Amino acid sequence: MSYKITLLPGDGIGPEITTAMKKVVAATGVDIEFEELAAGEETIATDNTPLPDKVLESIKKNKVAIKGPITTPVGSGFRSVNVALRKKLDLYACLRPTKSIKGLKTPFKDIDLVIVRENTEDLYAGIERMINDDKAESIKIITRQASEKIAKFAFDYAKKYGRKKVTSVTKANIMKYTDGLFFEACREIAQRYPDIEYEERLIDAMSMQLVIKPNQYDVIVTENLYGDILSDLCAGLIGGLGVAPGANIGDDSAVFEPIHGSAPKHAGKQKVNPSALILSAALMFRHIGENDAANKVEDCVNRVISEGKTITYDLGGTATTQEMAEAIADKVKNR
Ligand code: NAD
Repeated sequence: MSYKITLLPGDGIGPEITTAMKKVVAATGVDIEFEELAAGEETIATDNTPLPDKVLESIKKNKVAIKGPITTPVGSGFRSVNVALRKKLDLYACLRPTKSIKGLKTPFKDIDLVIVRENTEDLYAGIERMINDDKAESIKIITRQASEKIAKFAFDYAKKYGRKKVTSVTKANIMKYTDGLFFEACREIAQRYPDIEYEERLIDAMSMQLVIKPNQYDVIVTENLYGDILSDLCAGLIGGLGVAPGANIGDDSAVFEPIHGSAPKHAGKQKVNPSALILSAALMFRHIGENDAANKVEDCVNRVISEGKTITYDLGGTATTQEMAEAIADKVKNR
């Protein structure tokens, strides 16, 4: 079987980790043709927009995309291309698995949890305005429809992968209407899955719990902003942003990307860890039904990190981005 997949290398460290990821994908032998397109700052000059229509058309046609990070200017300038992609393609579920890597020294062992983050509304809806020079407002949108949809995704995921518990997270004691509605929707959906335990947590208590007892959690379903923050926190539990993959999934298409950003200060230095994007490619393989390739890639990333000989600075090594990718690719080829 052959696949055509849209590839957005992104900017900052995006292009170098993309080169690294392609080496590992090639080593699996799965027949993938990448349709490579640009987005972000560089297409403002060429296409007058950071998100050209041809990017959306390519993803709609191919149904699957993988991308590097894209810089978003802070405070002013264009809005996030990453958020726009998720909204325009209705990639309503953001999946962020957090799994301990054997052999990597971190304060916690055997963590295996998944964050399912609602990806299209909440404060990320971008409904903001200046009321006057000294006052700004941002409107938080939570709908029953989107909340039920993400809750259903979380429970279906739990069922499909044999997970036992779904924990829903908000701050409903303070935001009684918006977050209250999210909890209500989750409770409603939970009733349809009697075999899966359901519980609720407040975001502040949950942040502490995740740092003290992360092994208590299995599938976590939450809103857009809380999910963004919790997934960086969880990345910290397993070795940092360099090893944390992600996926944005809708009914029609899916876009795979690491959870980290474009780390501009490291761009072009070939020093960052390519594993997060390589593990995102493994999620992509599983999504298209290439489970062997997915397992192989995950196993080989684990083995290279466990051996500790060819790892990047963030994991305590001195290897370059490409050296680490080549070590993973060699293991994939020989497995
Ligand atoms: P960041 O994730 O880019 O980097 C924060 C720090 O984490 C880096 O300085 C580095 O020390 C470390 N880090 C990140 N990726 C790493 C890797 N692969 N290997 C080793 N260390 C790594 O966060 P930021 O600095 O807040 O954001 C930079 C830009 O990226 C911003 O413009 C932001 O909007 C954008 N961003 C994009 C996405 C996306 O494309 N989906 C996601 C998050 C942030």
